[in-house]
Amino acid sequence: MTKNSEVRFRAWVSRLGIAGLCLGAFWARGEENDPKAVPSEIQKTVSELQSRALEGGGAYEFVRDLTVQVGPRSAGSAGDRAAVEWALARLQALGFENVHREPVTVPHWVRGEARGRILAPYPQGVVLVAIGGSASTPPGGVEAEVLRVESVAALEDLDPDQVAGKIVYFDGGMMERARTGAGYSKSVLPRILGATTAGPMGAVAVLIRSAGTSNDRIGHTGAMRSYAEDGPRIPAAALSNPDADMLSAQLDSGEPVRFFLELSPRDLPPVTSFNVIGEIVGREKPEEIVLMVGHLDSWDLGTGAIDDGAGCAIVTEAARLVGELEQHPRRTLRVLLTANEEFGLSGARAYAAAHEDEMNLHVAAMESDFGAGRVWQFRSLLREGALGLAEEIHHFLEPLEIEAGGNEARGGADLSPLREFNVPFFDLSHDGTLYFDYHHTVNDTLDKIEPESIAQAVAAYATLAYLVADLEEGLGRAPVQPEGERRR
Ligand SMILES: [Zn+2]
Repeated sequence: MTKNSEVRFRAWVSRLGIAGLCLGAFWARGEENDPKAVPSEIQKTVSELQSRALEGGGAYEFVRDLTVQVGPRSAGSAGDRAAVEWALARLQALGFENVHREPVTVPHWVRGEARGRILAPYPQGVVLVAIGGSASTPPGGVEAEVLRVESVAALEDLDPDQVAGKIVYFDGGMMERARTGAGYSKSVLPRILGATTAGPMGAVAVLIRSAGTSNDRIGHTGAMRSYAEDGPRIPAAALSNPDADMLSAQLDSGEPVRFFLELSPRDLPPVTSFNVIGEIVGREKPEEIVLMVGHLDSWDLGTGAIDDGAGCAIVTEAARLVGELEQHPRRTLRVLLTANEEFGLSGARAYAAAHEDEMNLHVAAMESDFGAGRVWQFRSLLREGALGLAEEIHHFLEPLEIEAGGNEARGGADLSPLREFNVPFFDLSHDGTLYFDYHHTVNDTLDKIEPESIAQAVAAYATLAYLVADLEEGLGRAPVQPEGERRR
């Protein structure tokens, strides 16, 4: 901390009516030696924001209406177009300023039908879904012997002769439920890389065990890496976990297993969709932006309630609550509801390109894209000199039972294009224990959202957004992250 920033930091701290770092219990009382003292203005404001968030149902109503009135909204679909119109109207109605849309070119993949069947040794039908971006099978389907592998790396170790003509089945083992969602990034690799790895080795199709924790007989979709321009375009599908168990048990019998797969997705020409933006304009530094992001698109199977209707609802409601305060914070809160996160981050990339000139005015960014569970952890990505500030902010979040998680905020996928501009990030981590039971499946529907949990998340986002937007001084730029850590 330089002398100057130290002085400014102290000034900020003293505005909170708190002394030095002895802040552990400031929320519940006033000055340390006078617990009954009138709380400082900031404390009062945060308290008011939190209680209004916890009592209000604005986020739940938002995601209810989005899922009921629009429903699924995958990139390029009629639902995608309807969602943009819906979000523009909703932000207007909620009193946001500068409500507008910005064009984004998005891919347009259509799912079609999916059928699968074990033909031998014990014939049985199975439930599966096409992986996003998969090519179709030839008309009438494809039939071949199944070759089981544990991982993409294990496949790469095989001789192409062993793979040629086979349906490669990735049986990576079921991931465990975890609050952090740990395990997903590994279990998702066959979905992303399976077809483009197995195809050039001569495989005719790819099956994966669904990259989710549900044991319902439903498949888990998600995007795969695009086929190479001149490479083979083999189809790829995800088996429900119970059907993956059955296929594995048949393979365990030692008999050759034959499988039939028929998929009919289509790749249509790219279309124009839109990012939707609305602002709570800052009272002193309107050009400085605290960015709050959710993605408006969803997969097509469910109604996109937890992914990411919830995130859109949380950031919108949090910003709206701040906008309702007696006076706006110093800086502008910009709500950005992105197009096509799921199938290539098109909206986030378009935003970073279109707003490159004002990236240095983005003082901080946060994203909600991990469901509607309670927020349990707060993390920052700030330069060293600003770490004390993160500690102070955390004290305001403690009444919401949020832990401090250090300075390794990752941002969500849609914040990744902002990393190269060293925009400071904040993570408010939702409890994701059940997230991968529903995410990217037919079960991503409104009933999975608990009104109390989403309200707690709104309280956390509103607190953070208000405090950061109202700082006297900015946060500086975030540290440069090593390349290897940029991916989620
Ligand atoms: Zn998402």
